[in-house]
Amino acid sequence: MDPVINFSMGFDCCAIVICVVIMANYYSVKHISTRTEKLFQVLMGTLLVSAAANLVNVSFGYVEGMPAWLSYAAGMLMVISVHSAGISFMLYVVSECYQNRPFPRTLTAFAVTIIVLVGTAVALYGFRNSLPEGAAQTIIVCMFAEHCCAIAVAAACVVVNRRALDVRTQVNIFIYIAFNVIATIVQAFTRAQITAFAQSVAVMLIFATLRNPKDEIDALTKTFSKQAFRDFILRQISARRTFRLFMMGIRNMPAINALWGQNADDVIKETAARIVGITDKNTYVYRTDEARFAAVFSSDAQFEKFRERYRKIIGQPYFVGQYAVPVDHVAVLIAFPEAATKFSDIESIIKYYRGHYSGGDEVIIATRDAVADVVRREKVDYAIQKALRLHSFQVCYQPIFDLKAKKFNCCEALVRLYDDEIGYIPPNEFIPIAESNGTIVDVGREVMTQVCKFICGSRPQELGVEFIDVNLSIIQCMLPEVLDNIRSILHHYGVPRGMVNLEITETASARSYDTLQQHLNELRSNGFAISLDDFGTGFSSVEFLIKFPFDIVKLDRSLVRAYMETKKYEPILQHYMPMLHSLGTKIVAEGVETEEMVKALDALGCDYLQGYYYSKPLPEDEYLAFLASHSGADLSHGA
Ligand code: C2E
Ligand code: CA
Ligand code: CA
Repeated sequence: MDPVINFSMGFDCCAIVICVVIMANYYSVKHISTRTEKLFQVLMGTLLVSAAANLVNVSFGYVEGMPAWLSYAAGMLMVISVHSAGISFMLYVVSECYQNRPFPRTLTAFAVTIIVLVGTAVALYGFRNSLPEGAAQTIIVCMFAEHCCAIAVAAACVVVNRRALDVRTQVNIFIYIAFNVIATIVQAFTRAQITAFAQSVAVMLIFATLRNPKDEIDALTKTFSKQAFRDFILRQISARRTFRLFMMGIRNMPAINALWGQNADDVIKETAARIVGITDKNTYVYRTDEARFAAVFSSDAQFEKFRERYRKIIGQPYFVGQYAVPVDHVAVLIAFPEAATKFSDIESIIKYYRGHYSGGDEVIIATRDAVADVVRREKVDYAIQKALRLHSFQVCYQPIFDLKAKKFNCCEALVRLYDDEIGYIPPNEFIPIAESNGTIVDVGREVMTQVCKFICGSRPQELGVEFIDVNLSIIQCMLPEVLDNIRSILHHYGVPRGMVNLEITETASARSYDTLQQHLNELRSNGFAISLDDFGTGFSSVEFLIKFPFDIVKLDRSLVRAYMETKKYEPILQHYMPMLHSLGTKIVAEGVETEEMVKALDALGCDYLQGYYYSKPLPEDEYLAFLASHSGADLSHGA
């Protein structure tokens, strides 16, 4: 036999072995069925078929008495597979370049055109024997040109999209191209058929370095990984697919970890196994965080089936060894695109529902509002940080009228936040956010500093102001250094302690009453007067009032309104007033908006009134002007 033929057969055999080895390795690990994965499988498949067809074709050519149709079929298969390899390589490369983006239309059109051309060329090739020699040659040259074209498109695509690919991917794609070119040149000059071999070696390289199935699989649970989850969701989003994302987490995982150490992994494995156990094989389950899992469904109906099964299995007891472990789950369903449209929305929804309890086996249905709420909170949080950095918080002063002295001898300092991007942010919105992330301590320091600067710089005392109320968050009150912080600011500006009155609200966040009481006592014994704010809003308890003698109690706006509107509040308030007065406490009524209210609250025995009837909170200079214009006048029934 011709040594070149022998040589070619040897290379084809090697190519087949390489392809089989790659495929065996590839299919031994589970994969998510993505566009790129599918195209990589097509590429491996075409290379294997092309090597096998090459081998068959070369061998048949030398078998005596082979029927013509069989030689023809072998030739045909070889031509189709060799040329498909070029196209499938191109499609694979384009898909890799356009990860998480739709396939470019022009390239799709190009691929379709090439496939049609190859089909036509192959059909004509069938008549090769009946065609004049020149025509057959032309067809072969055309097919060769088409192959080069596909490879060139792949190369161009890599160059254009180089930012979407890492360097290793780019290098491997170019190695594949180089191998192809070298093999084709060698083949053209020596007739040795080594293209299939060169391609299979190049694909092995791509497989070895590009594919890292371990990144896609979570080692502990054998579910798909966080990385695979991200890739998959991004692809679904970019293809604008409608899907249902189920997310569940173990809320008490830190406690389980603390209690069971290494064995806590059993709970995670068991949870994963239960979820995998109730999903069908087309539904991928992902572990997206330490104790968080996700599953994606293509329709509500598919999810409903899953939900039924989920209800049954999730409540069953968990065991570590023979010990039962209490496991507290929370599950959320996110509908794309109804409730969420971006990948970051998932994190927002998880944040939003973190504190929610879904009721064991129930699944919370996420709403669009959850995303909006979290996005807004993040913006507000950012605005707070920015305002702290730039010292751009403002403080307004709302005059408070002393009914006995008939003077505006005090006021309440209220913080204001204006952000360039989102505009005015009311304190009722940003204070709870600042409290939840701890920035309230800095905000409080900023407010206190501004109030002290105002007292020291503008001397409102000279216009009859005896003290200024400053709101103190319960978070600040619980800090061991609360007294030192306030004292040092006052000291720095030379402000006497009697000039600042601290308002606190009794809230559920005061976890330790003893600490709060101790801190309030310290503040009071250091010369600060303390007001109980928002009395009557639900949190304030009589017990707290008795235990801690406040200098002032501020009746909340809602209580004042209720008193004005409903007769039944009359006896309650009439009962409280003498009790508070007997404790030596003064009473401020908030939210006074009408003259009628002034009269009624005066008659009730309030000591101070605060509200829009007199004035809204005012910036420093307007407040000073207000004081100047109202000093000395009898204002009991009108500003
Ligand atoms: P708050 O301490 O109860 O303050 C009174 C709120 O009622 C103020 O709202 C004030 O503008 C408003 N108000 C006063 N008079 C009337 C009235 O006649 N009618 C109506 N409808 N409202 C009236 P603002 O300034 O929006 O503050 C809201 C809350 O934000 C405050 O409630 C307080 O809890 C908190 N806050 C404001 N400034 C600070 C601060 O510097 N530190 C802390 N920790 N919290 C603050
Ligand atoms: Ca207040
Ligand atoms: Ca209040």
